[in-house]
Amino acid sequence: MNTERIFIQNIESEWLKDSNVMLDILRLDELHPVVSGNKWFKLKNYLQKSQQEGYKTVATFGGAFSNHIIATAFACKESGLQSVGFIRGEQAEVLSHTLLYARSLGMQLIFLNREKYRQKDEVKYAYRNEAWYFIDEGGYGTEGALGAAGILEFVELTNYTHIISSVGTGTMLAGLIMAAHVHQHIIGISSMKGNTALYDDIIKLLPQNKQHAEFTIFHDYHFGGYAKHPPVLLAFINEAWKQFQLPLDIIYTGKLFFAVMDLVTKSYFPKNSNVLMIHSGGLQGNRSLQKNELSFL
Ligand SMILES: *Cc1c(COP(=O)(O)O)cnc(C)c1O
Repeated sequence: MNTERIFIQNIESEWLKDSNVMLDILRLDELHPVVSGNKWFKLKNYLQKSQQEGYKTVATFGGAFSNHIIATAFACKESGLQSVGFIRGEQAEVLSHTLLYARSLGMQLIFLNREKYRQKDEVKYAYRNEAWYFIDEGGYGTEGALGAAGILEFVELTNYTHIISSVGTGTMLAGLIMAAHVHQHIIGISSMKGNTALYDDIIKLLPQNKQHAEFTIFHDYHFGGYAKHPPVLLAFINEAWKQFQLPLDIIYTGKLFFAVMDLVTKSYFPKNSNVLMIHSGGLQGNRSLQKNELSFL
């Protein structure tokens, strides 16, 4: 992991000029080609805690294409911890790139049918072991949010009026809210369809003094649902690469950048806004596509 690779990309385009909005993108995707930028930040505190408390193994949950599973396998290997991944669904005959890579990093994979996977507390109980430290799916939790707050240490924070990022569990957004100044507006773009629990999930992670922080979540940029990536989205991602050399992923950042462009075009941001978009990584998820679907794969 090389945080020196993180950089800020300024985007110049007609739609920004027309609306008088400045847009910078924090390129966390540069951190590592496979390990998602934000997952790395979310995991840091959990791993530290598990080591301080003497655990030998970190166990967590995720699907067959989960950025969180890979990041956990990678970070554990780097920290000298064993890792276990509880994977949603029966084991497929051919494992996904994600799972093969996680296994090559030393992660033990345990497949659970969807019914069992849903009962996470029962899984934790069945596999309880004093040497095992459990991290929730997607790294959701206060430690994860505190880790994600560190993302904003890579920018001159006072420069920005708005900070916008993609949202899965909301852990990263909670971290951004923690780190932001009072006058800054934090916006999340949910990749899921109708995840109405999100707002409360985020509030739960915030400390007392941030309970009343204002933030906005948009639920209408999911392109059909969490893992859905219709041709219009793929075409948009290819165009972003062509115009800005900006590599986006099909689950999170492609939808995010689309939302940013749409909101700018619709004059959501007041004139002279300085917007920071967080590119949280996730590019490994694109490997589930066919070779010719994206121009930069
Ligand atoms: C996991 C992930 C997210 C979502 O983060 P949450 O903290 O779960 O909201 C966003 N972007 C990328 C690239 C991710 O891998």
